[in-house]
Amino acid sequence: MQSVFMTQEVANVAVLGSTGSIGRNTLEVIAASGGSLASVALSAHTSLDLLIEQARQVRPRWVVAADPAAAGGHDWSALPSGVQLLTGPEGLEAVATHQDVQIVVAAIVGSAGLRGTWAAVAAGKTVALANKETMVVAGPLVTQLAQRSGARIVPVDSEHSAVFQALQAGRREEVKRVILTASGGPFRNHTFEQLAEVTVVDALHHPTWTMGPKITIDSATMMNKALEIIEARWLFDLQPEQIEVVVHPQSIVHSLVEFVDGSVIAQLSSPDMKLPIQYALTYPRRLAGVASRLDFTETMRLDFEPPDPQRFPALALGLEVARAGGTAGAVLNAANEAAVAKFRAGKLRFTDIVPSCRAVLEQHQFDPHPSLEQLLGLDVWARQEVMRWACT
Ligand code: MG
Repeated sequence: MQSVFMTQEVANVAVLGSTGSIGRNTLEVIAASGGSLASVALSAHTSLDLLIEQARQVRPRWVVAADPAAAGGHDWSALPSGVQLLTGPEGLEAVATHQDVQIVVAAIVGSAGLRGTWAAVAAGKTVALANKETMVVAGPLVTQLAQRSGARIVPVDSEHSAVFQALQAGRREEVKRVILTASGGPFRNHTFEQLAEVTVVDALHHPTWTMGPKITIDSATMMNKALEIIEARWLFDLQPEQIEVVVHPQSIVHSLVEFVDGSVIAQLSSPDMKLPIQYALTYPRRLAGVASRLDFTETMRLDFEPPDPQRFPALALGLEVARAGGTAGAVLNAANEAAVAKFRAGKLRFTDIVPSCRAVLEQHQFDPHPSLEQLLGLDVWARQEVMRWACT
């Protein structure tokens, strides 16, 4: 496949989810690209004032307010003239598939990001995938779609970017296993009793990464790593047995690939999302960028330890779901999103997030070969089930 950079032209980027943590970092990367990247479309769900502010800075062709109700009640008088306002899922699909857009950054949080990503993949775009839910919910369908359309999916998730980079050290059939690193989150050394008492404020404080609230809580339960196991399975066509997790509190080694001869190739960098974002936007080239650097003039420790399956049962659940495939990923993802929302509302204990996901998974009607419509239906069903699930 030809890179958009081979043409030496400006690559036009649509940033779906530009007001979130990944979106804001993406705009910094584009601003520092020396003109080789241009933001032509931005989108937001509810942070519409920030969306207007971003539009005033980067002057895109389009802004998309993904929630039509929020868009209707908003004052758009500060939106620069010449910037076209689109609304709703149709607006997202329009920019994701537009012929003048070469790269789509899929950075909308949660399963809400699936439709825009799907449209971009169907249109054969280069998709910088930050929305891991796309792969968790519909991995096999999305990879088949990409094969048909010629779309290239480049991971933005730091672990998957690391794996993507390390895989280039050998042939696919020479890969023994992939080892995803996990920071362990803020409760790495908590006892089970301490975990049961965790508050929302505690769970929103991540030791190494600054991220949005949903993924920060997922890091604390290690559900984020469970979702990343499933993401890796579909993204790299791995068997679940080939995927392992190691706790690495410093978040410097972003993941590792072991080849059949025993060589382990790792990717190291500061915990700064601008690096994997930029690599996804410029692949297969590497450009000078704005990501922070590692400093080897100071003593640096890299620790690795096995995760504790008792205190962090999300990991085993993630492997089970990766093995099951079919509808399991969609149900786990939706159940977890609903459980996290319930925890943030003070209506579910931290240690009940993963068991509620397991309960919903066990109740659902499993189908090994679902359609996209079926997956979207299960997404709604699983959320309702979590809301009904009794808090003990
Ligand atoms: Mg990650």
